[in-house]
Amino acid sequence: MPVGNFGSDLRSETDENLLLFWFEVRRAARCMALYEVATGPARVAKRSGLPGKTLAEKRKAAAQRLGDEVQVIIERDCYPKLYYQEHRDTREMTGAVLSWGFRSLLGAMYLQMAWRITSRQCEATGCNNIIGLHERSDKLTCSPACKERRRQHLQRASAL
Ligand SMILES: [Zn+2]
Repeated sequence: MPVGNFGSDLRSETDENLLLFWFEVRRAARCMALYEVATGPARVAKRSGLPGKTLAEKRKAAAQRLGDEVQVIIERDCYPKLYYQEHRDTREMTGAVLSWGFRSLLGAMYLQMAWRITSRQCEATGCNNIIGLHERSDKLTCSPACKERRRQHLQRASAL
């Protein structure tokens, strides 16, 4: 056996788990950085090195990469799960809810990230931007232009 392969054969499971741990730490840090670019101030996006000429393009690139990273973990560590609800006092079944289960703590963390992303999406039609983490919690759109577009859309819808 070549000497060069010696190390990998002697690697213990503990070492592999430590390597996986650092891999996951780096992935989580990458996700947070992408989230910051997608939602944070313009200077963060400009310094990010992500593709795109405009701020909007850089933020879109960050959001897409973040989505890809989150998707990998959700597919691996989460699954849809039926929960049965019961009345608190009588313990009778009152209904069923389709929700999520997870196979690891990482799955739960990335599920929370996915919910965070989807709950903070701009409500203007045709806009997929994420509303900034540091924005007010009741903010519904990503920009004044989208706010106006949403207002006009709702006005047209109510006029029908
Ligand atoms: Zn928007």
